[in-house]
Amino acid sequence: YSKEDSVDDYLFKIVLIGDSAVGKSNLLARFARNEFNPNSKSTIGVEFQTQKIQINGKEVKAQIWDTAGQERFRAVTSAYYRGAVGALLVYDITRRRTFDNINRWLKELHTHCDMNVVTILVGNKSDLEDGREVSMDEGKSLAEAEGLFFMETSALDSSNVNRAFQMVVKEIYNIFS
Ligand code: GDP
Ligand code: MG
Repeated sequence: YSKEDSVDDYLFKIVLIGDSAVGKSNLLARFARNEFNPNSKSTIGVEFQTQKIQINGKEVKAQIWDTAGQERFRAVTSAYYRGAVGALLVYDITRRRTFDNINRWLKELHTHCDMNVVTILVGNKSDLEDGREVSMDEGKSLAEAEGLFFMETSALDSSNVNRAFQMVVKEIYNIFS
């Protein structure tokens, strides 16, 4: 059983959701390409990126979908969600409104996906401590109440970005293997 055989064994679709400008595209850029774009307007484009991840010595592929900005018009389509087995539900710790909207995103996720979709609540921009409007405890509490994983990240300084994606993929792998 060679490594080559295992390459295509698992392909997990994971969606990024959350309000506009919370950092979804930059989280993906950091995770998939180790890049960061200070100008958000330049991040439009990619539909999804496929990333290979090692789990317990086995290679799995995560197909991570990013919105092309349609969340601005509350027009994320059912095609976007179709077949997703994981989700990163992202807010910006410096904008409370984006945290208040998490419930709305969670509802939308559950209208389109199975209730068991592996979901992590992500408080992004943890590098902007001075501008913080949502405490870490509030994030944790919401995650606990809704049965979600939780992590604060920074696409800018990279903290916890890999960990957040890995956590979702590993959990999905555990369910499907
Ligand atoms: P999206 O609309 O959710 O895809 O958000 P973008 O990835 O386009 O990011 C929106 C803005 O926030 C851009 O100006 C990014 O440079 C900035 N940004 C994204 N992530 C971070 C982060 O972790 N820290 C800081 N300081 N800025 C970020
Ligand atoms: Mg974007």
